[in-house]
Amino acid sequence: MKPKIWLSSPHMGGAEIKYIQEAFDQNWIAPLGPNVNNFELDLENYLNHNSKVTALSSGTSALHLALMMCNVKRGEEVFCQSMTFSASANPITYVGAHPVFIDSEPDTWNMCPEALREALEDRAVRGKLPKAVIVVHLYGMPAKMDEILQVCEEYGVTLLEDAAEALGSTYKSQKCGTFGQMAILSFNGNKIITTSGGGALVSKSFARKKRAIFLSTQAREDAPHYEHAEIGYNYRLSNVSAGIGRGQMEVLDERIEARRANHRFYSELFSEIDGVEVLTEPNSDYFSNHWLTAININPEVAGFSREDLRVRFERENIESRPLWKPMHMQPVFEEAHYFGSGHVAEKLFDNGLCLPSGSNLTDAERARIAEVLNKVLV
Ligand SMILES: *Cc1c(COP(=O)(O)O)cnc(C)c1O
Repeated sequence: MKPKIWLSSPHMGGAEIKYIQEAFDQNWIAPLGPNVNNFELDLENYLNHNSKVTALSSGTSALHLALMMCNVKRGEEVFCQSMTFSASANPITYVGAHPVFIDSEPDTWNMCPEALREALEDRAVRGKLPKAVIVVHLYGMPAKMDEILQVCEEYGVTLLEDAAEALGSTYKSQKCGTFGQMAILSFNGNKIITTSGGGALVSKSFARKKRAIFLSTQAREDAPHYEHAEIGYNYRLSNVSAGIGRGQMEVLDERIEARRANHRFYSELFSEIDGVEVLTEPNSDYFSNHWLTAININPEVAGFSREDLRVRFERENIESRPLWKPMHMQPVFEEAHYFGSGHVAEKLFDNGLCLPSGSNLTDAERARIAEVLNKVLV
């Protein structure tokens, strides 16, 4: 069996070990310390737009804190893009709220502004607007931010951004993760940069950053003993993990360029094949980090289906994966409301496939991928 080609695997830059060594040398093996502070500073400088960053144990915990800080209460609603990873929606249930799922649109595969408007209008008529809207930049592709911000503003609803897959992506030259009142990032092992496991909450004020630190370190009041007036969480990133993050920030631009080169490789590979669309920026307002390159196959035109291609890859020990299964189709969310008359997310799930997109993909691996495709086509 040939060695496995992964969808997306960790890719160290070299300096990570230096920062970890520093943590060991200074005995900062705690969920605080200079690596955490400096990793946050690196991210703040990178994102700009007055971003205040709190480093946390995961993107999921960051979203949980964001919802708490939006004051989402039990029984209230939060709107969320349906086509996404479950971590975008699970935290809604952690605070006892109900997710309402919104369809995608065909250009970016992200939240459809019209479906969002329809859903908000429906709730406005009932006098029950959601506490927040969660938009996701899937696979690194920025959502239609102008339209989505406009709709949220019209209805006076808070926008949260799930930028877990989109660090380094921009919309009209502004970084993803800086549009919403708050945003989350993820540094899980498969993301564009990793801390082995970790995430961050991006907000716009020092007060919010302080609040996130407070809640993520067990809500300890200012006292010499342990005093608690609120329920807290153990969500802070460790100083060792943050050392990996500092090293990864040094190579982030290279990682983005490598992922974008993968996207160019696939775009060329599929350019001659009718019936296969490669997810690509709709126009020059959009810049995707192309975390994963994803395709949408029309089986009637292409002559092969998503499953045909996936199984062929699997036989050659090449990992590929169907697009995210929309949340409104998941058994766990079968009770949730859904707005989407276009059924865009369902169709993308039927016909979409994510392709190996690691920044460490080699020319030899690309050749193996191209070979499988040639076999499928004959
Ligand atoms: C990875 C991911 C998350 C969650 O991040 P974790 O750090 O794994 O908790 C959230 N949303 C999306 C879209 C993701 O891809």
